Amino acid sequence: MPDSALQELLSSYKPIWALNHASAIFEWDSETYMPLEGAKSRGFAQAEIALMKQERMKQLEQSIAKVQKLPDLGDYEKGVVRVLVRELRYYQKVPPSLLEELEKVTAEATVVWRTARKKSDFEIFKPFLEKIVELKQREAEKLDYVGHPYNALLDLFEEDLTTDDVDRMFSGLIPESKKILDKVMSGSIFPSTHPLEDLEYNRDDMQKVNSEILRFLGMPEGTFRIDVSTHPFTVGMSLEDVRITTRYEGRSFRESMYSVIHECGHALYDLQIDRSLEYTPVASGTSLGVHESQSRFWENIVGRSRNFTRLIYPMLMSHLKFLSGYGEEEVFRYFNMVRPNPIRVAADELTYNFHILLRYEIEKKLVAGDVLVEDVPSLWNEMMERYLGIKPRSASEGVLQDVHWSGGMIGYFPTYSLGNVLSAMLLERMEKDIDLESSVSEGKLNNVKVWLREHIHRWGATYSPKELQERLFREKYVPKPLVRYLERKYLS
Ligand SMILES: [Zn+2]
Repeated sequence: MPDSALQELLSSYKPIWALNHASAIFEWDSETYMPLEGAKSRGFAQAEIALMKQERMKQLEQSIAKVQKLPDLGDYEKGVVRVLVRELRYYQKVPPSLLEELEKVTAEATVVWRTARKKSDFEIFKPFLEKIVELKQREAEKLDYVGHPYNALLDLFEEDLTTDDVDRMFSGLIPESKKILDKVMSGSIFPSTHPLEDLEYNRDDMQKVNSEILRFLGMPEGTFRIDVSTHPFTVGMSLEDVRITTRYEGRSFRESMYSVIHECGHALYDLQIDRSLEYTPVASGTSLGVHESQSRFWENIVGRSRNFTRLIYPMLMSHLKFLSGYGEEEVFRYFNMVRPNPIRVAADELTYNFHILLRYEIEKKLVAGDVLVEDVPSLWNEMMERYLGIKPRSASEGVLQDVHWSGGMIGYFPTYSLGNVLSAMLLERMEKDIDLESSVSEGKLNNVKVWLREHIHRWGATYSPKELQERLFREKYVPKPLVRYLERKYLS
């Protein structure tokens, strides 16, 4: 029987849910259909919504405390309290003046960063990055971290994540990945370039391919939209309305297709959360890392597999006439090219985590004050050469390539590698219950969806990312399964 204190808390939360809902639609619209000049008023409206949300959150303090004191809370109730306490704690510890300053600086810095990247001139962006690092250091101080100050910032993106977790993960992953990469680079099975990269496609044909992909993955009709944006993304509006995007660059068709598969992975997580959690604080994915494990699982482990290539090959042939002359094996090789590249978003499965390690090391040093902003470009290039043997030709190909820092997102990057690591942990766990290979080769992807729903999706944010892993694996952020997956795929 639900307690009345809990009911009271949940009903006071509903307006906050609605504000989040509105804010998500604003965000989606900004990236898809809003005319350029709308940016200023949209920014104003978003800031007002954020303030309203903050006010409402603070009003929940006593209701939260009442529920916290109830005896014998179940997992769901504990989850609700955990999520709300975290949000409230942030607003209580970080003073509004600091939030406002961060908001102002990052709004301007994002615009400045675009110009700096276009001109490939770090000097233009440097004063903004200096200011942002200083503000993030102050934010970390306010949040009273344990251990490294970067822990406070990591926790904002991945609950309870610490530098110890990330260091342990990379130290088990990076040397092994390097060995695999070296072997692949000296072999001839996985090419570093492919003629299909240069072939142009017709956009209508590609849209048909993408619609068929949505059908293969069994995206539930009437619960999603797919639109176009420069950088593909997913925004969940509710448990029955998710928006994804892809891009059409006109050549190298795999980019558009894999964006769709990746974003579907995010979308399915949101859509398969138990309906009874709707309008509550736990009606969302539990963290960025767990979210990314879903997109990576579908994109890489399913989508870039031999069996998936075989499954979709006839469909590809029927829509993309230029594929005649390229057999299934050739298309598989094109899907799985391996090439150290200075650009993170163009990286393959084997090199991707090196890009994250580099950013993680730099952020950790910046936050601790162990490196000056002015030295970041040379540190970046030096690490890129050490890790991947390549030297960015310009700042736009190096330190200026990502939007994250300009938006104040320091501590975000590691969640991408967490996603990769978790996706392979899931693979090994899933294989104890279902035969993934035959499910994919027979097109029975529903088996995979049902497994993910039962073990991860349905809970929403009821369990923290660490609790969820504890329940599923009895251990956390373990890199070994990813190493085994990469060895199996690339070396056998
Ligand atoms: Zn993603």
